[in-house]
Amino acid sequence: MKIQAVRGMQDLLPEKQKIFRHVDDVVRRIFSAYGYSEVDFPVIEYTQLFSRSVGEATDIVEKEMYTFDDRSGDSVTLRPEGTAGCVRMAQENGLLFNQIQRLWYSGPMFRYERPQKGRYRQFSQVGGECFGMAGPDIDAELLFLTARIWQELGVADQVTLELNSMGSVESRKAYERSLVEFLSRFRSSLDPDSQRRLDSNPLRILDSKDPNTQAILSDAPVLIDFLDRESTEHFAQLRQMLDDAQMAYEVNPTIVRGLDYYNRTVFEWTTRALGAQGTVCGGGRYDGLVEQLGGRPTPAVGFAMGLDRLALLMLEQTDTAGGSGIDVFIASMGDAARARALLLGEQLRDQFQDVRVQVHCGGGKFKAQLKKADQSGAQIALILGEDEVKAGEITVKNLRDESDQYRITGKNLDKVIDKIVLSR
Ligand code: ATP
Ligand code: MG
Repeated sequence: MKIQAVRGMQDLLPEKQKIFRHVDDVVRRIFSAYGYSEVDFPVIEYTQLFSRSVGEATDIVEKEMYTFDDRSGDSVTLRPEGTAGCVRMAQENGLLFNQIQRLWYSGPMFRYERPQKGRYRQFSQVGGECFGMAGPDIDAELLFLTARIWQELGVADQVTLELNSMGSVESRKAYERSLVEFLSRFRSSLDPDSQRRLDSNPLRILDSKDPNTQAILSDAPVLIDFLDRESTEHFAQLRQMLDDAQMAYEVNPTIVRGLDYYNRTVFEWTTRALGAQGTVCGGGRYDGLVEQLGGRPTPAVGFAMGLDRLALLMLEQTDTAGGSGIDVFIASMGDAARARALLLGEQLRDQFQDVRVQVHCGGGKFKAQLKKADQSGAQIALILGEDEVKAGEITVKNLRDESDQYRITGKNLDKVIDKIVLSR
């Protein structure tokens, strides 16, 4: 029997990997333009970190975590999201107290979900987390940053910003009471998960995908009517900042996010292009989390974007694939020429840091090699046959126009390559 990939785990073949790399480059540039520092932390943490931060009664902790005992019997979990680990790291290494931090990271996350398009059991997130800033200005800046990423990736017209405020812990509790009171009247019509949540985690019912439950919810009280004065003010100021920047958004009072640690600002960037997997980025403020995990009270706000969904969005657009990234293809005929071809490749890579060279390996007919040269996307083919080797020359064939091929001596090759690098 053939061994296959674990269910829900994806391979990244060149075309998709290329998009990931491109997204990574863009993201890296933009984070750096906003003064963020890149960090990394382990993909495994003690299980408690997630149960205490993400929340016991959330989908993630209840049914999506890869949790197991390691050989010393400690319960560990493959990280289902980045914020908890980032906070743990920042706290443990003294990055938080009395400091302002803008951090970002990128890497794999793991959730045991039903695999489908845009939903995998290993997926990639890029996250940004900011510490030590309580005002709405950093919330706004973070939204500008994400908008700039969409802009640069060419998907800005495919995503919309949905915004909400969850208020303070107290205002959230007051809302929760009123929601429970309302929903209790319809208890038996709710889906089973929501019935259970009525007791354990009622806010999460707003996330329910069940149409019946959604219909009942359309008349339910809304969180925004319960906000405390400071949260109302914070939200109004944030909206003003977005308006001043002419940034479009919708206030969506049902956005509560699937994790327990949020307060005040929460947001999602959504698209219609990916069906039920429509959220490409989500985030918000989590002022209580650092303290909850044993640190001193530290205001914080962050977001995570799912690279897999972004890549799907970009794949649907034309022109993201491009060539394979080869400039020069070297073909050869005969043993002596084959050895020379390898050396020529090395020499070009020594001399031109930038130039991308593919040396044909494995012999074969000349015609077949030229076909490969053409498919490689290279600008030129350098051809070495017995004649060339004897004469110390190289044949140059332009693969992208009909001009005649010509022979040059090795030392004139520089000019040819320079021209390619410049025209790229
Ligand atoms: P959903 O409602 O689609 O399950 P979520 O609210 O669980 O999303 P978050 O925890 O906010 O997602 O994670 C942030 C982003 O990570 C999501 O917006 C999405 O782009 C991506 N993401 C989350 N889960 C998956 C997954 N299983 N596969 C691929 N991407 C994912
Ligand atoms: Mg989810």
